[in-house]
Amino acid sequence: MAKTGKDDPRQMLRYLPSIEELLSQMSRRANTIEPDARANLARRVVARLRSEIEEGTLRPGSKDEVLRRAVREADVTAAALLGQHPVPVINAAGVILHTNLGRAPLAQEALRAINAAAAGYSNLEYDLVRGERGSRLAHLEEMLCVMSGAPAALAVNNNAGAVLLALNTMADGKEVIVSRGHLVEIGGSFRMPAIMEKSGARLVEVGTTNKTHLKDFEQAITRRTGLILHVHQSNFVQKGFVKQVSVADLISIARKHGVPVMDDQGSGILRDPGLLGAPDEPTVLESLEAGASVVSFSGDKLLGGSQAGIVYGESEWIERMKANPLARALRLDKLQLTALEATIRLYLTGKADEEVPVRSMIQASSSELKKRAGALRDALRAAVKEDAADRKGAPALTVKLVEVSSVLGGGSSPEVELPDWGVALVPKEPGLTASGLERAMREGRPPVVARVSEEQVILTIRAVFPKQGEHLPDLIVRALKRVRTRH
Ligand SMILES: *Cc1c(COP(=O)(O)O)cnc(C)c1O
Repeated sequence: MAKTGKDDPRQMLRYLPSIEELLSQMSRRANTIEPDARANLARRVVARLRSEIEEGTLRPGSKDEVLRRAVREADVTAAALLGQHPVPVINAAGVILHTNLGRAPLAQEALRAINAAAAGYSNLEYDLVRGERGSRLAHLEEMLCVMSGAPAALAVNNNAGAVLLALNTMADGKEVIVSRGHLVEIGGSFRMPAIMEKSGARLVEVGTTNKTHLKDFEQAITRRTGLILHVHQSNFVQKGFVKQVSVADLISIARKHGVPVMDDQGSGILRDPGLLGAPDEPTVLESLEAGASVVSFSGDKLLGGSQAGIVYGESEWIERMKANPLARALRLDKLQLTALEATIRLYLTGKADEEVPVRSMIQASSSELKKRAGALRDALRAAVKEDAADRKGAPALTVKLVEVSSVLGGGSSPEVELPDWGVALVPKEPGLTASGLERAMREGRPPVVARVSEEQVILTIRAVFPKQGEHLPDLIVRALKRVRTRH
């Protein structure tokens, strides 16, 4: 006997609705999507269900159930497409350069500049004095050089692009020597060996995972060597029986053999080594002064600007990079460029510490953070008390001031922990768990991203903008209400 839909999930393929049928059942909200796009959406939903049936991941059901499932999926997708994305999030996770939360928030000045330049036409690549085509990058390069004193600079779409461009320009068809301890993976599939391969350079690994000595590099230098690459270990720390060679030592041997050195710094602190406490790594300028031919870092990490890859270096190498066709493929778009220039202007006028959010967050004093966390605790206690009074019950949470630490994140000095203050929410209401509350907070508007530790939800204050902090008590009470409706 032939199997019915219930025994053989693949029989359910026959139950898939036609596009017309699905379209006729979709919600009014989904119907605000224009007809061609709506039909495309319906087709994609049916195709997704088809592959779920083929893979056996769709629970067996009747024809009616399959239709309802398709309608629900189409409506949910439509609502998601029509809603704003990305939405602003309150970052109480204690990670300042949170890559998943968009890394560096931009300064107000940068936002104003984007608005002004992007709403209409601009002289992005037009020389207003001569009335002819100008350079997109000359202005930014001048700013970068004046800010640093470096002889030449270039900026591209991101630091992964900067590394690709530098490797391709400096070592296409040649060997690049890298310590095994520097073959890092930065989140989002940036892997140094993969970038290296795409650049046309040949990777020569030296040393071991935990230890690389200067002599390892020295022995690997041949006539085929095009470059020695030093990579910041950005997102991990090696402890114990470890050794890596400093940029300065690499330069000393590279010079003897006439080989250039590139330092991929990742985060890149330009000049103030004390910014993150104990300075045990060279700044961008120190690396250049020590003789690195090229130093690269991201625009949206510690600099606090837009996504970009900034390259400082010897004029000859920078000129060659600019002439490389890859530079065009990797160029900054006008919004990134405008935001980056506005951010650098704040450095040039000495206002960066106050006005670039990442800088002011990093430099906020412990007493200021304690005061803000204390105010949050008080406001939260009052809100929780009010919520209890409304329900004629006991407070759902106890709220405590806690001393915590935050990290830089975003593939930047992982060992650097910044002392911080926060508020711990300890669930008291029956059925309320820390992870349930944390999830409900994430699902609010705006979402609040926090950590769970030992059955408490921890809100860390440093990366919470003061204006956002004022909304936290209300958002958390609303999250409590959402948890209750789930029970
Ligand atoms: C972050 C990082 C990169 C990648 O930079 P993006 O700007 O994200 O492309 C490359 N190298 C190092 C060492 C990094 O820390």
